[in-house]
Amino acid sequence: MERVAVVTADLSHHAAGVSMSRLCKSFGEKVALADVTLAIEPGTFLVLLGPSGSGKTTLLRCLAGIERPTSGVIAIDGRDVVGPRAFVPPEKRHLAMVFQDYALWPHLTVRRNVAFPLTSSARTKGDRTARVDDLLERVGIGHLADRFPNQLSGGEQQRVALARALAADVGLILFDEPLSNLDADRREQLRIEIATLTRAAGATAVYITHDQSEAFALADRVGVLNHGRLVQIDTPEAIYRRPADAFVARFTGVAGEFPVALLHECGPDRYEVALPFAPDERIEAVAFERFQPGDAMSLFVRAAGVSLLCANDPKGVHGRILDVAFNGRGYDHVVSVGQGATLSKIFSPTRFERGRAVKVCFDASSSFVMDPTRGM
Ligand code: ATP
Repeated sequence: MERVAVVTADLSHHAAGVSMSRLCKSFGEKVALADVTLAIEPGTFLVLLGPSGSGKTTLLRCLAGIERPTSGVIAIDGRDVVGPRAFVPPEKRHLAMVFQDYALWPHLTVRRNVAFPLTSSARTKGDRTARVDDLLERVGIGHLADRFPNQLSGGEQQRVALARALAADVGLILFDEPLSNLDADRREQLRIEIATLTRAAGATAVYITHDQSEAFALADRVGVLNHGRLVQIDTPEAIYRRPADAFVARFTGVAGEFPVALLHECGPDRYEVALPFAPDERIEAVAFERFQPGDAMSLFVRAAGVSLLCANDPKGVHGRILDVAFNGRGYDHVVSVGQGATLSKIFSPTRFERGRAVKVCFDASSSFVMDPTRGM
């Protein structure tokens, strides 16, 4: 059983700022990164989120120095590491990396793996030993110090990799989908440890994943990539409440998406819309750009903006429960509304049984009118 470390002391190192300007990378005809510009403040935990093939790994590898961009500039701590006249090799970028497949030295014990980045440092042997012991305790594997990597579970190996990255005592740590080979329980535990230990280390983090819930749980800021472009970079809250386009809305989770007819503007950034599955019902929704009444748009609904009421409630749109699943804190429902439209992951603390008639209420601030073709 792995122990969860309790972090109180500061591991503090000065965090590195990162900037990328007009970064492009092509592999032959294939454009993997297209004109990516971003700035990461020192100490930020940035998560890059995107589907398979969106360019996350390429971006991380360019930042690490494992891949050479086709054009553009990358600066770490104000120093150009990639540019028209610069290419600093990975080992001189003062960063550490945690990989999906752990990448531990198989012939070294846990202790020696973690000590590896320290061997060339000016510390005394006693200092180095104390530092390694401290890090192993922090990641909850002090008792495994003399084992070899092949004698550890995946979660334990990733803890060793995390301790090794922290031992490097650098201002920038890169994470390449470090949880993807672990089962659900271990993912959750290790995610918390990565978040707390990296922040305690005072390091800047760039972490890539295709998992929206992991991204939102970890990040100070989330950068969303699609087809090699950075389409939005903001706090998780801002991305949830104000997605840049239909792609971002879909990729960060919608309960439902329906074509709607815009009736008229009813306030700043607000439109009244007619629901195709309930023509007599009109609801208000947010728009982040101006549309003309009659434009063929879609309504994107976040699960957090939908509530369930009893069928005799005067408010809401008629619906019927298709499925209900207990999630520990309450119930997630799948609800059909009108003819053929479905809403999923609708939470209620009380259980509505399958087949039951209900009313469905839409909160305007979590219902977005968007062009469904934007970001395809
Ligand atoms: P995944 O989540 O599947 O790892 P990703 O978002 O990390 O995907 P990348 O691995 O960065 O995406 O790949 C971006 C695009 O560049 C993809 O279309 C990929 O096929 C292509 N690509 C990446 N590396 C190479 C390469 N060495 N040669 C040719 N094409 C490549």
